[in-house]
Amino acid sequence: MRVLHVASEAFPLVKTGGLADVMGALPDALARCGADTRLLLPGYPAVLDGLSVVGTVFDDANIFDGGWGRVLQGQLRGIGVPAYVLECGGLFARPGNPYSTPAGDWPDNHRRFAALCWAAWRLAGGADGAWLPAIVHGHDWQAGLAPAYLKLWGGAAASITTIHNIAYQGWFPAETLPELGLPAHSFGQHGVELHGGIGFLKAGLYYADRLTTVSRTYAREIQEPAHGSGLDGLLRARAADLSGIVNGVDYAIWNPAADSALPAPFDAGQLDGKAAAKAALQQRFGLPERPDAVLFGVISRLTWHKGLDLLLDALPLVADLDCQLVLLGSGEAELESGFRAAADGHRVAVLIGYDEPLAHLVEAGSDVILVPSRAEPCGLTQLYALRYGALPLVRRTGGLADTVVNADPEAVRDGRATGFLFDDATADALAGTMRWAAGLYADRPLWRGLQRTAMRQDFSWDAAAREYIALYEGLAGP
Ligand code: ADP
Repeated sequence: MRVLHVASEAFPLVKTGGLADVMGALPDALARCGADTRLLLPGYPAVLDGLSVVGTVFDDANIFDGGWGRVLQGQLRGIGVPAYVLECGGLFARPGNPYSTPAGDWPDNHRRFAALCWAAWRLAGGADGAWLPAIVHGHDWQAGLAPAYLKLWGGAAASITTIHNIAYQGWFPAETLPELGLPAHSFGQHGVELHGGIGFLKAGLYYADRLTTVSRTYAREIQEPAHGSGLDGLLRARAADLSGIVNGVDYAIWNPAADSALPAPFDAGQLDGKAAAKAALQQRFGLPERPDAVLFGVISRLTWHKGLDLLLDALPLVADLDCQLVLLGSGEAELESGFRAAADGHRVAVLIGYDEPLAHLVEAGSDVILVPSRAEPCGLTQLYALRYGALPLVRRTGGLADTVVNADPEAVRDGRATGFLFDDATADALAGTMRWAAGLYADRPLWRGLQRTAMRQDFSWDAAAREYIALYEGLAGP
């Protein structure tokens, strides 16, 4: 079965968040499970640099007003499956963040990602005579028009839209309709229209044959007005086609027993290296090296959805606890300055920025990883935390609820507990749970037991890959 994945980022070449980690691992996991999988990406400079070109599949004189471009086929550094890359200098030859500059989003994002979807449609129409996909599997709004083109322009491939985060919808003014090659009749509730404009994610959710998202709880939540970002009605109407498949972890990259970012290896059987990582982390963040202080860690985009304003408000409430906090993140200016102001050099240390190796050290050196998200489709940092023996302390929402087992007395007794959950999106609830975790930390044998259970959890991609393959077989036959 041939499946073409369409996405706007993939680790290790271009990453702004969890989507990249998924795209760097899921296609390979599917291939290991027997699906003939390929990946289509935009030709940003970092992607072209990482591409060993095998050949040109097709070219075009003017792609969505970006001028000449072509689809290349080849092999991407760090990605096992064969890749297609849409090279079009007028659309993608821009360094840095794939979607925006510090001044805001690229003004032609609608044409840039429509072009990506058009390339998927061409491939689904047989542009590569040697490889014809039966299924086009698009990820997030950037791939949302691929199912629309297949339905509106014609195409035999079935299509899937996967929602990695419903809050990012790719909304553009109605005037852009002609630039996208969409027929006038598609501009309506039964089509691409959303709030008087064009919704790329909405288009994907309306036209794709199947819909998925990245956890079961999130699949339920996004059908409710409170979490559906305006698309809950459409998702309720399509509930029979919507399923939740929880993301996996690439344990070749996130493995404390073989991680070059750590001072010493460790695993569930041998935790000494974790103490070394804690000391190295405290040193790196300029905190006193205190093995006994419970160390809370955060690695996150700094946005309201991630609930980090709750953490800022919770800090004074835990001022009496023997604890430290390290935060690695970047995002909204107000949160960045709030955390900068909270840093005090002995209990709270903050690094505003994006640093992949340092993220590994924070996972390894922390005792607890905080993820107080208001909404979290799946969440990966808590899955990495489990493997690194940092107990996740998370809000009970989306994938966080599905992947962390609360340390209530029964779960502790049964050896199932792996972390801490709280319900209310309030600073009080977060602070109270931090206090509870710090109390348990003082009981070292109990804490070691929790760590061992956490580290033994298996969120490898194979289970998710098998679920996707079952979905593909239901759509296109084996
Ligand atoms: P989201 O995709 O919503 O940002 P996820 O938890 O699914 O959240 O994925 C976040 C990914 O981005 C993880 O791989 C995490 O380690 C990484 N990450 C987030 N912020 C940073 C940062 N400042 N530096 C390094 N890695 C980061």
